[in-house]
Amino acid sequence: MEAFDVVIVGSGFGGSIPALRLAGQGRRVLVLEQGERLTTKDFPQDWGFRAQTRLFNAYTSKDYRVFMRYGKGLGGGSLIYAAAMLRSPSEAFEFRDKTGYRVWPTSVTRQVLDPYYAKVEAMMHISRASWADVPKAGGCFAMLLDKMGLTCDRTMYPIVDCLQCGFCMTGCPFGKKKHLGHNYIPQAETLGAEFRTGCKVHHLEKDGEGYAVHYADVHNVAQSVRSDLLILAASALESPAIFLRSKPYLSGLHPQVGKNFNQNGDVALVFLLPEGFPKAYGYLGRNNAGVITYAFWDEHRITIHAGAGPPALFAALDVVREGGRKPDVPLGLEFKHFLKQNYPDRLISSLAIGLVDGDGEVSVNSQGLVEFDVPMNETLKAYIDRVAGVGRRIAQETGAELLRTSDESFEHGDAHPLATVRMGDDADRAPCDPNGEIRSHRNIFVTDGACIPGGTGVNPAHTIAANAERIAEWITQNR
Ligand SMILES: Cc1cc2nc3c(=O)[nH]c(=O)nc-3n(C[C@H](O)[C@H](O)[C@H](O)COP(=O)(O)OP(=O)(O)OC[C@H]3O[C@@H](n4cnc5c(N)ncnc54)[C@H](O)[C@@H]3O)c2cc1C
Ligand code: SF4
Repeated sequence: MEAFDVVIVGSGFGGSIPALRLAGQGRRVLVLEQGERLTTKDFPQDWGFRAQTRLFNAYTSKDYRVFMRYGKGLGGGSLIYAAAMLRSPSEAFEFRDKTGYRVWPTSVTRQVLDPYYAKVEAMMHISRASWADVPKAGGCFAMLLDKMGLTCDRTMYPIVDCLQCGFCMTGCPFGKKKHLGHNYIPQAETLGAEFRTGCKVHHLEKDGEGYAVHYADVHNVAQSVRSDLLILAASALESPAIFLRSKPYLSGLHPQVGKNFNQNGDVALVFLLPEGFPKAYGYLGRNNAGVITYAFWDEHRITIHAGAGPPALFAALDVVREGGRKPDVPLGLEFKHFLKQNYPDRLISSLAIGLVDGDGEVSVNSQGLVEFDVPMNETLKAYIDRVAGVGRRIAQETGAELLRTSDESFEHGDAHPLATVRMGDDADRAPCDPNGEIRSHRNIFVTDGACIPGGTGVNPAHTIAANAERIAEWITQNR
């Protein structure tokens, strides 16, 4: 069987960062990535289904209430993300769940991650957007907050000379948004790391002191490679699925693998702007619309950032009016006319992100395919009600109107899966130790969103990246 010093599954933030650091030590590194090697010419300005399925894998929860997706391709989510790269507030690391358990290891704090955040910022050319870079929708959101006497911060991005075309989430066709294919991946390749695309890992198997990795190659032919050290970084939806498919071949797998699924407290809020406000031009500008408010962090532990929403987003969100106003169903002629009248000038999207318990679960079905569940329990319901309360307060105090974003409540999923093979101090509750090593199997590390143990309070990619830098450094020094 072909052998490497290190095999890494997935080439997103969790995979490409350790690939560079371990190749830098002269180790033979192989990265297996199921997606394609895409370049700027492959990024369509197209929100259609066919274009999307080339760039994303998407799943709905077992009860169809929650939708989750992740970017596939060499570079993972960095290809299609909206590119907000924010450090998590200190308090996120101190979060305790309803049982009183501190979900982050005590050794991993904002202060500890700060040098690793700085490393990622330097590698990816991350800087704060200027006001000229903030899309109109972001400006309108900031005006709403200003009307309440509250403030917004301009967001940090790895975007240079943006043309404000509004297609970051289908990949930047102009190469302005820096993804891992601009920095970590080519540098790792220069140092000898191999990135094999079109290779989907099915399961792992114990092989002497090391592990065999079984995958289907780009021609769908079964292949196997082996290494003594493995890194799983296939996203918080797929990393646990690979472990769960490996159960017959990895005895004693930690029983918490797949559990504690956290959707980062995402809740989609859409506002109808007050009459007389400037036009939002909802389809224009970077998709993360440039501003975030921490004004509700102290009281509610939520942040809210503005989005520049493409038409497809509004068609997919079940936007309806509250209080008996029509349209009160997301279908039909009234709904169509409402959207026609108000999009793109008066409707703006935003996303609340907050600290919430991870009560969901990723499992695999009888064919080994990913399934997930986010139970609408009392804790989640109370959290969504609290976020909606903040949205209603914004509406009341500014003359805007808050719209519901799903038939009965508010959308609470989409893009930020976390915690399904989480690290933590408690060996019973956390499959991975604070260094990302799965407790049940020496030399298997998890470095992606799956090992982030709880909500990040803001968009999570920067924390995933910084944590991957931290774990990679530990591996280079200790294994
Ligand atoms: C539309 C969208 C917008 C987003 N915008 C932002 C944003 O603005 N800011 C932010 O912080 N976050 C954003 N995110 C979230 C961000 O993209 C993720 O948090 C981040 O990419 C997760 O990193 P990761 O390393 O965990 O996994 P990923 O980046 O998802 O990488 C996992 C990789 O593993 C590969 N893979 C999966 N299964 C297998 C397998 N079996 N075999 C081989 N390869 C496999 C996948 O193809 C993928 O390339 C966004 C996400 C989406 C979907
Ligand atoms: S808005 Fe800017 S970063 Fe986004 S796709 Fe267009 S040019 Fe690229």
